[in-house]
Amino acid sequence: MAIWNLGSINADYIYSVPHIPAPGETLSSTKRQAFLGGKGANMSVAAARAAAHVNHIGAVGPDGGWAVERLLEYGVDIRNIAEIDTETAQAIIMVDPGGENAILLHPGANAEIPQTTLQTAMAEAQTGDWLVIQNETNLQRTAAALGKRMGLQVAYAAAPFDAARVQAVLPHLDFLILNAIEAEQLHKATGQSPKDLPVRDVIVTLGADGADWYGTGEKEHFPARQVDPVDTTGAGDTFTGYVLAGLDRGMPMAQAIKQATKAAALMVTRPGTADVIPDLSEVQALQ
Ligand code: ADP
Repeated sequence: MAIWNLGSINADYIYSVPHIPAPGETLSSTKRQAFLGGKGANMSVAAARAAAHVNHIGAVGPDGGWAVERLLEYGVDIRNIAEIDTETAQAIIMVDPGGENAILLHPGANAEIPQTTLQTAMAEAQTGDWLVIQNETNLQRTAAALGKRMGLQVAYAAAPFDAARVQAVLPHLDFLILNAIEAEQLHKATGQSPKDLPVRDVIVTLGADGADWYGTGEKEHFPARQVDPVDTTGAGDTFTGYVLAGLDRGMPMAQAIKQATKAAALMVTRPGTADVIPDLSEVQALQ
């Protein structure tokens, strides 16, 4: 089996600043770090680290070769990442000494993934494979409908949250994962709580409180592991990548969630995103 992930690829630039600049202000940063990021890339890396065969479907600009190289290094199949004329997506993240941040997200190539790239990838997909989508690219609705028609298992991570986009793909989904805030936003927008949704498996992640799974039976709760968090960025993406990789490799849901819980706990003890997602041997070594 395989995972096909239609997802964003970002260059994350993190600037340390004395304070978050006010309108009209010019400010020098004191440090800059560059990371591979984007929810899509993070999930692809997590699922590949968890030993799944992951095909990333996406786009970068002429400036994005390094990001594709890095995905390849981390074990992701990159044959369906198009290089287009539009620049690679960027997240400009300013962080002040107190940890407060301001983020500017430029979607760039993520919003212009060519339809032919999706079609070429899907021509190789097999019934029962996973098709994963999030909310940082174009073509989500097309992909979800196509995936459903082809007999793929369609998974959606509803972030960043957008009620109209969730509703557009909802009829095609087998698996939905969202955090507690997104679940609340969905409830407000549709009047539906996770257990009422017409989706086979729904997982609501609860940060340090763990996760709830709404499957065929009663809600099942999975507590988080107790750790001292240093950076929770990417915890949700790591969790999602690990759950899907586990399911793709034939694990029952409870086992996949327990493994993902360990991976996400390791992740929150590390600063950074895609570059520091733990691999399966590290996760398995955790008692
Ligand atoms: P998101 O990053 O999408 O908002 P959550 O914050 O709900 O997602 O985190 C996803 C998962 O990561 C949780 O279900 C939990 O297993 C793990 N996690 C997140 N924060 C912590 C934490 N402080 N301590 C331990 N595990 C955590």
